[in-house]
Amino acid sequence: MEKLINSQREFFFSKATLDLNFRIEQLRKLEGILKKNETELDRAIYADFGKSSFENYETELGLIYHDIDSACRNLKRWAKVKKVYTNVANLPGRSYIIPEPLGVSLVIGAWNYPYQLSLCPTIAAIAAGNTVVLKPSELSAETSRIISKLINENFESNFFKVVEGGIEETTNLLAQKFDKIFFTGSTTVGKIVYRAAAKNLTPVTLELGGKSPAILDEKCNLKTSAKRLVWAKFINSGQTCIAPDYVFVHKSIKEQFLKQVSIEIKKSKYAVENSNYVQIINKRNMERLINFIDKDKVYLGGDFDMENKYISPTVMVDVDFDDAVMQEEIFGPIMPVLEYENIEDVILKIKEKPKPLACYVFTNSKKNKWKILNEISFGGGAVNDAVMHISNSRLPFGGVGDSGTGSYHGEFGFKTFSHFKSVLEKPTWIEPNLKYYPLTDLKLKLIKFVLKL
Ligand code: NAD
Repeated sequence: MEKLINSQREFFFSKATLDLNFRIEQLRKLEGILKKNETELDRAIYADFGKSSFENYETELGLIYHDIDSACRNLKRWAKVKKVYTNVANLPGRSYIIPEPLGVSLVIGAWNYPYQLSLCPTIAAIAAGNTVVLKPSELSAETSRIISKLINENFESNFFKVVEGGIEETTNLLAQKFDKIFFTGSTTVGKIVYRAAAKNLTPVTLELGGKSPAILDEKCNLKTSAKRLVWAKFINSGQTCIAPDYVFVHKSIKEQFLKQVSIEIKKSKYAVENSNYVQIINKRNMERLINFIDKDKVYLGGDFDMENKYISPTVMVDVDFDDAVMQEEIFGPIMPVLEYENIEDVILKIKEKPKPLACYVFTNSKKNKWKILNEISFGGGAVNDAVMHISNSRLPFGGVGDSGTGSYHGEFGFKTFSHFKSVLEKPTWIEPNLKYYPLTDLKLKLIKFVLKL
């Protein structure tokens, strides 16, 4: 590991990555490799958890290509030295900000969107001029293998290298000194990464998880809300960091909402054999999820097949915060429905919990919308939709508090992997005497005045 990081640092010091054309070439090369090997990429993700090529494009490759394209088209603008206003105390002078790459970066990916979560941060790192060591999740073993094969066969290891492995290999990597660590995964492991980074004062971005609520008020469009919610909850079998974890529904519309949700679930015909429903990643997660299902509270679904790692789309009713399903992030195809009468109570309840990664509000009431958006702290979210905010790279994607720190996508990714060096440049033909000895009352008066300008 040490040798690898040293060789990357040496390459970084060679200044090769400072050249914007080099970065664009590498990104286009990555795009070409992925496009040429889409069949292999489809096969690997299907082998890992039954994800179809349709969804592989929709939720993984499509977003990766979008990010590459956006970085290549905008890089020159993002990387420009930016002039800013100079305050009167520093006149005559010029002020500007120079974006610079941080250096050798470590990207640690999660398994649930194994291509996107490994490669989108990598794209941002390369665009910003860093070298990259990428550690995909070992739980999605086939995708980890194919990423490693394609990258390590096509890129020089001193610029971009994939290291496969689990806890042991990640621990070894974290013992090294990186200039940036970008981690996607659970809040528990996020704390381990943060501690390791602190030893070297390495800046981190932590893309973590949590329980993201969806709130439906009595003024929402029930049909469209249920359709969008069902899609957002059950895509990837609920194994989505920004999936609506649980749903708060106003008491007056609960029954209609549940009916509408049933219609949508039945219409979608979720089944592994239909290629529209992925498997649960492993037996351990199957067991964890099955334990959440309280048979007395199942409104719909609740069936499972341990052998095929399948849990039918499940809706639970009359759920409260004491239920097992409400104790941790679900990360599976179970939708607990909680009812409420007063929106204030909902807001209070959510605020008592760790800050969620996402929050969704379904309403046609401006008052309720702004109340929720202004009073609840969350990473990102949507009004009258769920999950789709991730697909707009002009929105920063990231959490807050327990759900993460920092953000990426589009220019935000470039910023995440950059340092912004601020420079004040002064001419030498004049030097006002204000700050120099002797210090007089008049000078102090003038300083007080000038610093206000
Ligand atoms: P995880 O934290 O178990 O694993 C993530 C990565 O950390 C993997 O590469 C793994 O090898 C490594 N790792 C695991 N244990 C470690 C340890 N003890 N020391 C060092 N490294 C270790 O998470 P996961 O199960 O892969 O993913 C699920 C979690 O990730 C959920 O909480 C989900 O919400 C979150 N997530 C967040 C985002 C986001 O963008 N915010 C995206 C996807 C997933």
